[in-house]
Amino acid sequence: MNTIYFDNNATTCVAPEVRDAMLPFFDSLYGNPSSMHAFGGQVMRYVNEARERIAAFLHADPSEIIFTSCGTESDNYAIRGTAEVFGTQNLKIITSRVEHPAVLGPCRRLKEMGAKLIEIPVDSHGNLDLDAYQEALRGSETKLVTIMWANNETGVIFPIKQIAELAKAAGAIVHTDAVQVAGKIPLDMRDVPVDMLSISGHKLHAPKGIGIFFVRKGTRLRTQQIGGHQESGRRGGTENVPYIVGMAKACELAEATMAEATERERRLRDKLEKGLLATCPDARVNGDSENRLANTLNISFEYIEGEAITYHMSDLGICVSTGSACASGSLEPSHVIRAMGVPFTAVHGSVRFSLSRYTTEEEVDYVLREMPGVIRKLRSLSPFGKGDKLPVEL
Ligand code: PLP
Repeated sequence: MNTIYFDNNATTCVAPEVRDAMLPFFDSLYGNPSSMHAFGGQVMRYVNEARERIAAFLHADPSEIIFTSCGTESDNYAIRGTAEVFGTQNLKIITSRVEHPAVLGPCRRLKEMGAKLIEIPVDSHGNLDLDAYQEALRGSETKLVTIMWANNETGVIFPIKQIAELAKAAGAIVHTDAVQVAGKIPLDMRDVPVDMLSISGHKLHAPKGIGIFFVRKGTRLRTQQIGGHQESGRRGGTENVPYIVGMAKACELAEATMAEATERERRLRDKLEKGLLATCPDARVNGDSENRLANTLNISFEYIEGEAITYHMSDLGICVSTGSACASGSLEPSHVIRAMGVPFTAVHGSVRFSLSRYTTEEEVDYVLREMPGVIRKLRSLSPFGKGDKLPVEL
């Protein structure tokens, strides 16, 4: 059975061009870039070239690019590195309720340690409550704003330029988790006044295990990964040269294909969305219909569990993800879908489709043929029928 892959917000395939660009660095060019001898030293040239390419991708200066291992490391660096500058007792952080755990986790840990944390809500379309954000900035002095550029579950895009401008006017340092936007929309650091930005390679057809951390010149930050002098002393650890080279190639490819890919993905995503809404009763889209990444569709099928849908789809070779996470035997609905106030009957039945530039029309057609049958079957098995015997939420 072929794999029909609709889970590109979770991870993507490595582009063949990226794999090819990496291969020499496993084989002939395996030296340590920090070595004094020529065999190792020559490799530093490729690290520097990669840094320059990635800086160009972000319209930033090469000195503002730090290589990390993943998006999570970049997010942790931004939040904990800022906390170390100010101390947790003097720290007020503003974030949103719908951040990835890589941001919410460190923020909540700092709250336990004495920091003040404000989590801004979203509306029923998943858009950030800008009034609540401005109100939060008006109070005592905010040291750090960390708000994502686009949400991984719904694809809803936040107005990061406006968010950053408001934060800067209030004297705060601004970080954004750009993991889901990198390679999907243009990122221009000359135009968006964030101080720090996180990217993950495996979301844009580079391998798992490489991240980017943009830190604008002059930003106050304490190094987190303490070790050697690599990355100008800002991230110890021998450089992951093959992955750094692969990351640069992935950014170059994303830039070259972005306009065309976005248009195609939007057309295919809209076809999928319209088709599912037309053939599956009691389905509703989660997330703003316009203000959303072109590749993402989060859709709830009422009265059934997203997990069950995912398993049945998997049997058909279709990979999607669900908005619930199985935690200690109970199905916890996603904090993102819950924050949007999605009705109880729909919150558990959310499924995320995420496309990539490799998604084909045939794959969309296959889902449209198979999915209505899966939903009908699960509904016929559901103890809650179609809503007449719904459990009361406690
Ligand atoms: N931030 C967002 C918005 C994400 O979607 C993810 C991964 O799903 C991460 C951070 C973490 O990235 P990584 O898997 O590279 O640690």
